[in-house]
Amino acid sequence: MKLLVILLFLGLLTGCSGNSNYSLTPQLLLVSFDGFRADYLKNYDLPHLQNFIKEGVLVEHITNVFITKTFPNHYSIVTGLYEESHGIVANTMYDDITKKHFSESDDKDSFWWNGAVPIWVTNQLQENRSSAAAMWPGTDVLIHNITPSYFMNYSSSVPFEERLNNVTTWLSSSNPPVTFATLYWEEPDASGHTYGPEDKENMSRVLKEIDDLIGDLVQKLKVLGMWENLNVIITSDHGMTQCSENRVIHLDSCIDRSNYSIIDLTPVAAILPKTNITEVYDKLKHCNHHMNVYLKEDIPNRFYYRHNDRIQPIILVADEGWTIALNKSSLKLGDHGYDNSLPSMHPFLAAHGPAFRRGYRQSTINTVDIYPMMCHILGLKPQPNNGTFSHAKCLLVDQWCINLPEVIGIVISALLLLTILTGLIICMQSRASASRPFSRLQLQEDDDDPLIG
Ligand SMILES: [Zn+2]
Repeated sequence: MKLLVILLFLGLLTGCSGNSNYSLTPQLLLVSFDGFRADYLKNYDLPHLQNFIKEGVLVEHITNVFITKTFPNHYSIVTGLYEESHGIVANTMYDDITKKHFSESDDKDSFWWNGAVPIWVTNQLQENRSSAAAMWPGTDVLIHNITPSYFMNYSSSVPFEERLNNVTTWLSSSNPPVTFATLYWEEPDASGHTYGPEDKENMSRVLKEIDDLIGDLVQKLKVLGMWENLNVIITSDHGMTQCSENRVIHLDSCIDRSNYSIIDLTPVAAILPKTNITEVYDKLKHCNHHMNVYLKEDIPNRFYYRHNDRIQPIILVADEGWTIALNKSSLKLGDHGYDNSLPSMHPFLAAHGPAFRRGYRQSTINTVDIYPMMCHILGLKPQPNNGTFSHAKCLLVDQWCINLPEVIGIVISALLLLTILTGLIICMQSRASASRPFSRLQLQEDDDDPLIG
């Protein structure tokens, strides 16, 4: 018995000191594999990712934000805002007031990012906390004069292993502790563009490589003793759809280039007319019926893509799988950016860690719902956002969650129980009333007894 007590005491001691970075403040690692279409999970063999999901949660489809491009969606994940609100409205932008340009390779001007406060900034403004980023759009830019305490300047040539090593080092041994970190990887987006998502042979090879990276990530966290305490979200910005040389819209065949500037091209083209807006609009309107043409003020409400100066006066939205080009040009076999209601544009979300339930699946949430969920996990007060915390409640272990089928099940069970009970009561009452004449007789006899006596 004494030995048992000593062993328990030692166990408690090692449990407390096993992870030198153990702190009561939760830690969260947010991972993005760019362009990971939701149904890759169903259509390809991904054993490491499936194991991760088995011990955690899965959201099968994430409804992302329009336009379904990389920079805008990554910024929506970390701010909970639609593009018109955070201001990163495309991968390529032009601001007509300041005459500034933005592109994937020229993204360092704070001007573009300061319309929102990303979670790594909010986290860092808390006492005794820091943030780290192994690449994520915007993490190597001063936003509201702050970068993450630890970050890497973006370079696609840095291998995954180096990014992973950096992020785990920062998460395990920094002071003040890193409580929020990001990890970004360019695949399967790059291959999706090159081969197209319907190229099963090439995509299965690429996705196996990604699955192995997920295996490496989990293994490393286990070796470092971080696996059980760290919350890990694996998600993506958008999906991918198949394009074809038979589905190309040539703008040059409809309108002369001298009439407008093209700010962004495909599959959502941003048009800045040089001449009369209505004239340009009319010419484009009748260009091709596989393309919707909108004046800025007529962009459908459901896109939440209107109220920002960086959205150009006319936008063209190609139908799924169609490409907008000026003339004959080289073509991507896969692309994204299309209508965010298309399932092919949706990514997934999987998560594991002490904040998450185990073995739970949910069909959908929105990209903007991820932010309030992350703030909750980290105990941060969220900035104003477009997300809804309750959408993600069921994923979290500390939330009371009941879904519709469960509610229906409980109501039906309660009704059944009530019916049985009512039946039983009626049955017992009718039995009681059936035996009453006999008992009355007995009573009368009893009542009579004293009189006789
Ligand atoms: Zn892409």
